[in-house]
Amino acid sequence: MVLSNIRIVLVRPTHPGNVGATARAMKNMSLRSLYLVAPENYPSAQASDRAVGADDVLQGAVLCASLDEALQGCHIVVGTSARQRRIEWPALDAASCARRLVEGARLGPVALLFGQERTGLLNAELDRCHYVVTIPADKDFSSLNLACAVQILTYEIHCAMFSEPATDSSSTEGRPVSHEDMQRFYRHLEEVLQQIDFLDPENPRRLMRRLTRMFNRTAPDHNEMNILRGILTAIQTQRNKS
Ligand code: SAH
Repeated sequence: MVLSNIRIVLVRPTHPGNVGATARAMKNMSLRSLYLVAPENYPSAQASDRAVGADDVLQGAVLCASLDEALQGCHIVVGTSARQRRIEWPALDAASCARRLVEGARLGPVALLFGQERTGLLNAELDRCHYVVTIPADKDFSSLNLACAVQILTYEIHCAMFSEPATDSSSTEGRPVSHEDMQRFYRHLEEVLQQIDFLDPENPRRLMRRLTRMFNRTAPDHNEMNILRGILTAIQTQRNKS
């Protein structure tokens, strides 16, 4: 149940062989929820060849047209990157990432995102992530094959799952907030910040990214989110009166 809440999401993969090898890597580590966002050349015999023995995981893969579709219902999203990014996305190492995902999966769906072979995850895709994890590698040759990166991080998930007591060690007390609800909150916050002239749409700088980072870090629960949305609505009502 916990492991089936951990989605492995491949974003725009171009080589079907990598999709098959990912299915195998996942099944080896007891994971089965594979989501494919706009894969190229798929389905393909090459994918099935590389899945060897994990055809069931491949057959069960959920095909999505957009990343948001793949993230529906998820309350923790972790991106992966071969490069250390700037401060916008808090970094986790592989073992902490796995612990965070296993803890989160006890409460509901969580996602680990992998980028396209050439480009990796785009900034707009990383904006959907609470954390980014980088597998340490050679400083001049740090980009791993996609399925190899999946193997390493799913191995860590397997370790975190089976070396931890099966208790709920979540830090959030109430019902977690879904990806969609967080996105709705950020749109509402942006709208209000523009209405009160705090955010200039002509010169937004990195304000929304910084605020996203801050609110993701606090991981509000459902009641807390209702309070935040209530505050935003109250500001708007007050402004409409005056
Ligand atoms: N040029 C791209 C590399 C893409 S490799 C970049 O710099 O990001 C394809 C995918 O494999 C990446 O998007 C990531 O999901 C995963 N990957 C490859 N190397 C990795 C590493 N060292 N740490 C974490 N993920 C890695």
